[in-house]
Amino acid sequence: MVLVGAGPGEADLITAAGAYWLARADCVVYDRLVDPSLPARAPDGAELIFVGKAAGRAELSQRRINELLIEKARACGCVVRLKGGDPLIFGRGGEEARALAEAGIPFRIVPGVTAAAAAAACAGIPLTERGLSSAVVMVTGHEDPSKAESAVDFDALSRMDTVVFYMGVGKLASLAERLIAAGRSGETPAAVVERAAMPGQRTITGTLATLADLADRAGVKPPAVVIVGPTVACREKLVWMEKLPLFARTVLVTRPRHQADELRRLLMEHGARVVLSPAVEIRPPEDYSPLDEALGRLGETDWLVLTSVNGVEQVFSRLAAAGRDTRALGGVRVAAIGSATAEALGARGVVPDLVPEPYTTAALAKAMTADGVMADSRVLLARSQQAGEEPAAALRSVGAEVADVVAYRTCHAESLADEAMEALVGGLVDWITFTSASTVDGFCRQASSAGVEGALVGAKLAAIGPVTAEALRGRGLAPAAVAEEHTAAGLVRAMISAESGR
Ligand code: SAH
Repeated sequence: MVLVGAGPGEADLITAAGAYWLARADCVVYDRLVDPSLPARAPDGAELIFVGKAAGRAELSQRRINELLIEKARACGCVVRLKGGDPLIFGRGGEEARALAEAGIPFRIVPGVTAAAAAAACAGIPLTERGLSSAVVMVTGHEDPSKAESAVDFDALSRMDTVVFYMGVGKLASLAERLIAAGRSGETPAAVVERAAMPGQRTITGTLATLADLADRAGVKPPAVVIVGPTVACREKLVWMEKLPLFARTVLVTRPRHQADELRRLLMEHGARVVLSPAVEIRPPEDYSPLDEALGRLGETDWLVLTSVNGVEQVFSRLAAAGRDTRALGGVRVAAIGSATAEALGARGVVPDLVPEPYTTAALAKAMTADGVMADSRVLLARSQQAGEEPAAALRSVGAEVADVVAYRTCHAESLADEAMEALVGGLVDWITFTSASTVDGFCRQASSAGVEGALVGAKLAAIGPVTAEALRGRGLAPAAVAEEHTAAGLVRAMISAESGR
């Protein structure tokens, strides 16, 4: 049994040790404040048990959770108890560990980034600072209501340099009053950090005397921490997150999920909240035999042309299925359309002989002709069903003998992801990104069947290149950003320039 701190919200803030155990879990028991993508990192087939508050269901009692942990620890191999922030700070991790110890179940504890540390970092408020604060105390703002007397010593608290309240949002006015009554100056800088390291993060600053009112008017809701002390004033110079070019922008990514990672990371790096809603799905061809047969003839093939990462993946997985490996490509020259395709090949130890610029089959045909290699070359073109006959025709037009094979299918995804639907209906989407003409078609269909076409007018649209931009214009939609370099990085750059009006 491993008690793991999941960190404050953003999934990447779990520790490497926490991620290690999660990747080995047979069973994950998790709470409400844990990022939903974290339990999903457990291996396929792991049992995922949610024990937090959910609509229409009472929260499990701590006793019942302890029993569940003991039961699972006895039945499963590796059980991970995933808790928000740090398990031993207002997380009842101590109670759970004690129950395990009493039941004779061995356990270990992996610390996590606690909310105070996350809020401090994200808001630019040091918790300690030479000359300003040499002590920090973490306090619960929500005591067990059954307690007759407060266990919190406000006299002592009023003399601490930095005080951080957890679970204090609803009680902010009374917490401030009690601190002031105990002698802390009402002029002390104070801040509330809502949803630290989560989408929708907000920081509101004021003084101990004014903060409750400011937070109330801004409609601050949990989860949030309140920081009181002179270091709060440091934020003025240390604020950084709000300066990121895409801070507080919600961006919808319509790429297939398994290909969205780079774009998602780049967007997040620049401060955006990313909502994944694949508009297309990559599926295997209806019949593998044309691809398998063509791969069987690699010995008589001069060129293998790959047009996307999906093509690379399919070719290698079919080679593997036939018990073959990279050496099968030994005598074959390889052309890659697009830098991502070239990288996917590189990752498998194949350096492409040709990466045409621009990233099109027409440019490939031209480059091959210029090279003088095209006439009578035997070419295996492994492509998507949706690419149609045109790429093969471009190669044939310069004299190649082409085996034109469907290696995968690009299909429209059925419906919008739930989170995307919510964001669209709420009018919260600032940008929608399109990385191919098929994502444009797929998304437009999804949006119209869900009745949210308006979103396409309300949000700014970003296209990875001219073909994608044309697909938007063809539907009467004007892209607000078109990437000059047709990569995820180029797309993000174009969005940032559009945001800054350049
Ligand atoms: N074990 C957790 C705390 C659980 S108590 C930890 O170490 O962080 C729940 C309280 O934590 C919330 O009421 C809120 O005060 C704070 N909290 C948790 N996540 C937060 C976040 N992302 N931003 C701000 N406060 C958060």
